[in-house]
Amino acid sequence: MSDKLIGAVEAGGTKFVLAVALMDGRIVDRARMDTRSPEQTFPEMAAFFARHAKLAGIGIASFGPIDINPASPAYGTVTTTPKPGWSGARYHDALSGLGAPILVDTDVNGAALGEWLKGAGRGCETVAYTTVGTGIGTGVLHMGIARGGISHLEAGHIRPPRDPGRDPFVGRCPYHGDCVEGLASGPAIIDRWGAPLDVLAGRDPNAVPLIASYLADFAVNLILLHMPDRLIFGGGVMKAPGMLESLRAQTEGRLAGYVLHPRLDAGLADYIVAPFLGDDAGITGAIELGRRASCQGSNRQ
Ligand code: ZN
Repeated sequence: MSDKLIGAVEAGGTKFVLAVALMDGRIVDRARMDTRSPEQTFPEMAAFFARHAKLAGIGIASFGPIDINPASPAYGTVTTTPKPGWSGARYHDALSGLGAPILVDTDVNGAALGEWLKGAGRGCETVAYTTVGTGIGTGVLHMGIARGGISHLEAGHIRPPRDPGRDPFVGRCPYHGDCVEGLASGPAIIDRWGAPLDVLAGRDPNAVPLIASYLADFAVNLILLHMPDRLIFGGGVMKAPGMLESLRAQTEGRLAGYVLHPRLDAGLADYIVAPFLGDDAGITGAIELGRRASCQGSNRQ
């Protein structure tokens, strides 16, 4: 049993990380490739897995929006993405020939799963993992299972209050303008100021607090809706100097002492944290999805 192999895909907007792992999660082969069109990317992905013995399961943590309902005929299909050529692309079309059961989830649910298993979310009954980068997305896990409904969560499109006097930037989300992704994602920061936040941090003392203010409103929403044991905030924007500290302070201020629990330490240094696994969170979660696929044995084509 222990020498069964699991396939895993972490599919991002700019790169795919592929791995073959043992059932205990140890990676035995790994590759990285640029995300191009599905016609170019999918065959290369399939060829990587075809180099190995038959896989017991394949887990995919993908950018989206994507159909993650196993009961849906379109399970595993990228839906309304603005990414050219990817709407309608279906992972099963590329991988079903390998004969392994497949589980598909979102990139943030995959990263949340990785952090819950082996990272900053260990021991949490409920954990929320948010990435603030090219986009903003959150995966909420309860007892290791991703929260969702008729689709996966789309928390990055919640609209925080914006004061036009403080921030005249109207936002860049093509659907909502000044939703939190439209205001605080990496591309929104470049649109507004012409530079990334880590550069601005030493130049404009207002930049980090402003972006953190939107994320603090967002964090409060996550707390009030899900009452997580811990919030994990990752992604390139969070790496700007002072960002995590400003997010903690402004979140604590907005909560105003309303939520009282030992989990919420003074200063929130243990409550709002950076990812522990860094760039490996997503592939770690995808391997776990593959392991679960192998246990379920389902293989919807
Ligand atoms: Zn939006």
